[in-house]
Amino acid sequence: MKRIRGHHLFCMALFAGHGYSEEFTQNMAAVIESLQKGEPLGLTEGPDDICAHCPNLLPGGGCAHGTEDVLHRDRGAFAALGAAPGQQTTWEQARQGLLGVDGEGFEKVCGQCRWAAEGLCSLALLQKRLA
Ligand code: SF4
Repeated sequence: MKRIRGHHLFCMALFAGHGYSEEFTQNMAAVIESLQKGEPLGLTEGPDDICAHCPNLLPGGGCAHGTEDVLHRDRGAFAALGAAPGQQTTWEQARQGLLGVDGEGFEKVCGQCRWAAEGLCSLALLQKRLA
């Protein structure tokens, strides 16, 4: 079972091969492939199996991009999906939840993120990728 923090469900759905390092990108692709093949995922708030291969992970579990900022995005994701940390789910169930996210929910998770600012992420793209 993979541990996945709330906002990373959005990141995985929108992943297009970009990342913070080669190791990060390779791990992200491997995690997505495994989940799409049916490996279950456990939702968490805080560092997960994506963060574990990220150069921005700080000793103690914080994030160089802002520990509180990313936790806030996790909580926004749980609210948008009607999910909670500790819950076990599947990629297919998560995909169904993501398809129901509206503009306000998307903004709480992805607003002001560097990838969205670079034009790599949007609600329209999320819906297109999941269709
Ligand atoms: S450590 Fe921060 S930047 Fe890296 S994957 Fe985790 S939340 Fe994202």
